[in-house]
Amino acid sequence: MANVTLPSGSLSYPELVHVAKQDPSLSWPEQLWWAHYTFWNNDVLATGVMTFLAHELIYFGRCLPWIVADACPSVFRRFKIQDQKSPSVNDQWTCVKYILAIHFIVELPLIVLFHPMMEVCHVQYTLPFPELSLFATQIAIFFFVEDTYHYWLHRAMHWGPLYRSVHRIHHQYSAPFGLTAEYASPAETFLLGLGTICPPLVLGYFTGNVHLITVLGWMALRQLQAIDAHSGYDFPWSLRRIIPFWGGSSWHDDHHRYFRGNYSSSFTHWDVLMGTVAGPRGKAMGHKKQR
Ligand SMILES: [Zn+2]
Ligand SMILES: [Zn+2]
Repeated sequence: MANVTLPSGSLSYPELVHVAKQDPSLSWPEQLWWAHYTFWNNDVLATGVMTFLAHELIYFGRCLPWIVADACPSVFRRFKIQDQKSPSVNDQWTCVKYILAIHFIVELPLIVLFHPMMEVCHVQYTLPFPELSLFATQIAIFFFVEDTYHYWLHRAMHWGPLYRSVHRIHHQYSAPFGLTAEYASPAETFLLGLGTICPPLVLGYFTGNVHLITVLGWMALRQLQAIDAHSGYDFPWSLRRIIPFWGGSSWHDDHHRYFRGNYSSSFTHWDVLMGTVAGPRGKAMGHKKQR
């Protein structure tokens, strides 16, 4: 990948970063990327390790501030959407154990399979990284495509038989908290996961111009979106107050609270267009039926 000569023998990760620094054409993140793939010397393993570790660090790292917020009601309760319902320590611990099981049993095999799938779909992982404008444009496309897929699949999962067999677990908590973002059945984890991994694979297949760093950036932002939507807190600086068609926590909290409506993941336009806005907001808009 990098235009450097690798000394013989296996080198440690810091030594490889030092070698990568000899190539002035590489940015700092590109040096780390090159060192990572060279260190593992197995591209499937290198992609799998990086993706799985990033997933775990982002998930539990982003949930931690919400656990702290729930532990400090005197400070944060005024920002809580359903202020009478706080998760107990037992609720949080039950979620952690279940989610770790889902991550290792359902998501890890998909992550290991991702490298072969992305090679079939011409997703690039060599250097250099793409331009920032391409990175941002593709992630915006993935957000809108996933939101559309999520809206229709989620709405279908509220149909009786599908709800009982696939979606019921996710509705165990009517007042969600950060850790519940991925609290779902294995089937739901798999089906919703397709909405995250397929858009970059399909775009890569048809354009040959999607890079793995863009896919990782997209996966990270999608995780942060899902955790934020389940946080149970709405702040004066929440993203929905800046981007008017962004759903955020108050939008998805109403889905768990009222059970029907607000089926989309990131944005509000599908629910507004299809007349499925939940709760008092939906009534005010004349949305009588949220199925
Ligand atoms: Zn639902
Ligand atoms: Zn939810």
